[in-house]
Amino acid sequence: MSRIAIVSAMHQELRALLPALDKHQSATFAGRTFHIGTMEGQPVVMTLSGIGKVAAATTATLLLQEIDVQRIVFTGAAGGLGAGVRVGDVVVARELLQHDMDASPLFPRYEVPLTGRARFPTDPDLSAALASAALHCLQHAAERIGETHLADFGIDSPLLHQGLVVSGDRFVATAAESEALRAALPDALAVEMEGAALAQVCADFGRPFAVIRTISDRADDSAHVDFNRFIVDVASVYTREILATWMSGAIE
Ligand code: SAH
Repeated sequence: MSRIAIVSAMHQELRALLPALDKHQSATFAGRTFHIGTMEGQPVVMTLSGIGKVAAATTATLLLQEIDVQRIVFTGAAGGLGAGVRVGDVVVARELLQHDMDASPLFPRYEVPLTGRARFPTDPDLSAALASAALHCLQHAAERIGETHLADFGIDSPLLHQGLVVSGDRFVATAAESEALRAALPDALAVEMEGAALAQVCADFGRPFAVIRTISDRADDSAHVDFNRFIVDVASVYTREILATWMSGAIE
């Protein structure tokens, strides 16, 4: 059976996922520990990428080359950019772009030089399956996360969004910067720091991947407020529940 990689950017996220892993072994490459086992009976490997595009690219390369995983799912948090993309919502990427890639005037802005493209699509089937699981979990968010935690973060009727996610080596935490991103890339739903790097590596290897993110902030001047608590209390719980729902085959 083909092995699925589940990659987290932050250790709080991985810590929430590891108890769901029936672990058989671990391997270490380039300072990263790869936890190999099963989740809901499916062969998986869980690992921490670290934050940023280079960390994500190194992790993806190791997963594909050394562990020979067939599919990669990157989970985590992101800042909401799209008008209706609120804290507590979930975004499943349909395509990814590096918002800090700019080799103009040699190449069009955002285009990854010599690849001929700026936008890298995710695997439609994998993304659709995760989106179904996410929708199911969001409909039951109150039971899964707890009313108090949801209320603490002002989350009410969280939504699922699917579309463009942009990545760059910057934590976007000012209204001016998120406004500039919205103006330049009007269809961008969310901003994070790893997804588009994973996308480029997976395109090189021709392997399917997906990116699923919980919106932790609006990428504005209050983006850092309670960030770590949100990751522990909300984003990590969503991720664990969505992955378990997807892997148990409870949702088609
Ligand atoms: N305080 C954290 C730093 C997290 S960096 C720590 O010390 O560990 C932010 C992480 O969440 C990255 O992995 C990124 O992908 C995602 N993210 C969430 N909101 C973001 C935003 N507004 N801009 C960029 N990345 C964001």
